[in-house]
Amino acid sequence: MKASAFAYARATSVENALDLLSVHGEAAKLLSGGQSLLPAMNLRLIAPELLVDVSQLVELRGIVVKEGVVTIGALTRHADLLKSPEIAAHAPLLMDAVAHVAHPAIRNRGTIGGSLAHADPASELPACMLTLGATIIARGPSGERRIAANEFFVGIYETALTPQELLVAVELPVTPINSTHFFHEFARRHGDYAIVGLAAQASVKDGGFADLRLGFFAVGDRPLLANSASKLVDVVITSAVLTEAASALDDELDPLEDQQATPAMRRLLAKVLLTRCVFALLARPDLCAG
Ligand code: FAD
Repeated sequence: MKASAFAYARATSVENALDLLSVHGEAAKLLSGGQSLLPAMNLRLIAPELLVDVSQLVELRGIVVKEGVVTIGALTRHADLLKSPEIAAHAPLLMDAVAHVAHPAIRNRGTIGGSLAHADPASELPACMLTLGATIIARGPSGERRIAANEFFVGIYETALTPQELLVAVELPVTPINSTHFFHEFARRHGDYAIVGLAAQASVKDGGFADLRLGFFAVGDRPLLANSASKLVDVVITSAVLTEAASALDDELDPLEDQQATPAMRRLLAKVLLTRCVFALLARPDLCAG
């Protein structure tokens, strides 16, 4: 299928893009890498009247590390993240996750801003933003707005952005040197959207967790920063403790049904991931019951 007819404007600056969004409101859609938007238009799932192409705004592309913060411009492509020494050194969880996003051709065009604004609950990067405690920076008619990642994702393909706002950057705290991470997803084939995935970061002390953040994806209508992690912090990790955390996780998940899996299958896979994650982070094979 082909998209419905639409008008096209190439934004010449962030201000120009914001002006176009102000004038056209919900009739306009921003175009970054086009890897989610254009398929949706071709399938006639959406039919914007105007595409505002921001893909040439070079000021929104790049990675800067300063004073303990990694700032990633919205137009930074997945492929840029994968080859960035700054991401490898200061946000290694993100590096592992991006390798699971789609395929090289899509990673060469798709952007971090587009992925977060698209807010697919099965996407890797939104869950990483929760785990890493990111701040999403948006620009709109009344200036800049900083949104904590845990308030940004509000539903399937829904975020806290208004139709007049442009996501301009993401800020991540530099990953502490003593922290460790785990990323894994179940997918039919490498590069497919996940059936269930987990992006975790922890600091390990005396054989247990001093801190643990568990960002699950494809377990509900948005990524989930699991509260169940608290059951595993500052305690001696035993099989019983892990079983209790997995049961608590069950209450937090609200998986959807689709062609890939039933909710029951997703719940089971999430618990398997939790077990593998704890096993991997603590290097405790005896806990790997799943
Ligand atoms: P676009 O397609 O240009 O835009 C997506 C949406 O975000 C649109 O609604 C657009 O208006 C809005 N938007 C874009 N930029 C901004 C901005 N700066 N501010 C506000 N709104 C904005 N993704 C995964 O995460 N995991 C996968 O496994 C995966 N597999 C894929 C497989 C295929 C075959 C394809 C085609 C895509 C896949 N994707 C996957 C999606 C891919 O990662 C996209 O690149 C990404 O979701 C969107 O980024 P984009 O820059 O292409 O955004």
